[in-house]
Amino acid sequence: MDLQTTETVKGGGEGEERGRKRRPEEEEDKEETSSNRKQVADHSVKVASHYNRLQEVGLAARSQSRIFFMRNFNNWLKSVLIGEILEQVRGAGSRQVSVLDLGCGKGGDLLKWRRGGINHLVCADIAGVSVEQCQSRYEDMKRKSHVNEKIFSAQFITADCSKEVLSEKLDDPKLMFDICSCQFVYHYSFESEEKANVMLRNACERLKPGGYFIGTTPDAFELVKRLEASDSLSFGNEVFKVSFQSKGSYPMFGCQYHFSLEGVVDVPEFLVYFPLLEHMAKRYNMRLVLKQRFSEFSEEKVKKEHHRSLMMKMMALEPFPCEDGGRQATDIKGEYCHAKEHCGSAGVKLPLGTLSRSEWEATSIYLVFVFQKMS
Ligand code: SAM
Repeated sequence: MDLQTTETVKGGGEGEERGRKRRPEEEEDKEETSSNRKQVADHSVKVASHYNRLQEVGLAARSQSRIFFMRNFNNWLKSVLIGEILEQVRGAGSRQVSVLDLGCGKGGDLLKWRRGGINHLVCADIAGVSVEQCQSRYEDMKRKSHVNEKIFSAQFITADCSKEVLSEKLDDPKLMFDICSCQFVYHYSFESEEKANVMLRNACERLKPGGYFIGTTPDAFELVKRLEASDSLSFGNEVFKVSFQSKGSYPMFGCQYHFSLEGVVDVPEFLVYFPLLEHMAKRYNMRLVLKQRFSEFSEEKVKKEHHRSLMMKMMALEPFPCEDGGRQATDIKGEYCHAKEHCGSAGVKLPLGTLSRSEWEATSIYLVFVFQKMS
């Protein structure tokens, strides 16, 4: 596929090649591209200020959230991914493990890195307030740790990682990473080819040979499939909503939709056409080793006892039927039909629990990916 001339994805089904060359009469599109570029700064600012505004809430308030279990489920899935990749890195003989958390947010993954016993972490995010909170969470963690526990060293960088080159900002200019983790972030960069390239450069250029670029992002095929099935320009339910501006034609870069999720996210995002990302990653000698929808990934991982017990510990699924005197996350009719079917008429308790239909519909738009640097 020629990325210089291929600009548009048409239709909605999976697996089809949809790239096509731009015809001369489509020169207008170029103009549109340059006016899109003018909006680039606006979108970054919107994203940064949205995440900066998000308040950190304590466990008590979090547990009241309608999507408490879904957020725990997503967190469990990230823990499993991070844990398995760290195992691979250690298995390959790496002793001093360095990680880049690209789009670290408020530091939601700090504990995962601590549990994984890494040696150094670089956290970068466009939202300055989030980076500050991430840093103070880290310092708190260090202060409260056991005297014998050696907590990883860390650097915190506020930067638009789709515009600025991170390697120029590293305290140690020679630092190479074993892992770059980019959780729920990469789709913001697909606003333009330039941005997607810079983000990818930041993710991959300082990886050691054999190092990994891992992440989670919405699956463009799934989003387009749901949009095409909808009789309007949006789809969703009581916990999330995705709205497009049009349908039928999907540019490879800058294909914007608006995503809102129950008090957590309310921002413009961009479709990541995965075969294109895979192609772009080859420039950095990256080979795709895993791409799985959340449903496939979790079904496979839950077969292992230690992942199952972590799932219980992290309350990644909602007990069903709920415990004595308790209530399910929602009373809305039909939200637990799937769970009831599994329980049967005797109402047997589900061993691992479940998610409400709306939460499952929201989390199942995502996929997990793992790239590895070949040399
Ligand atoms: N990775 C964290 C996690 O999993 O908890 C945060 C995920 S949050 C959904 C998305 C994050 O991406 C936000 O913190 C946002 O500021 C960051 N982000 C979006 N665009 C970015 C960019 N261009 N450069 C750096 N960070 C960006």
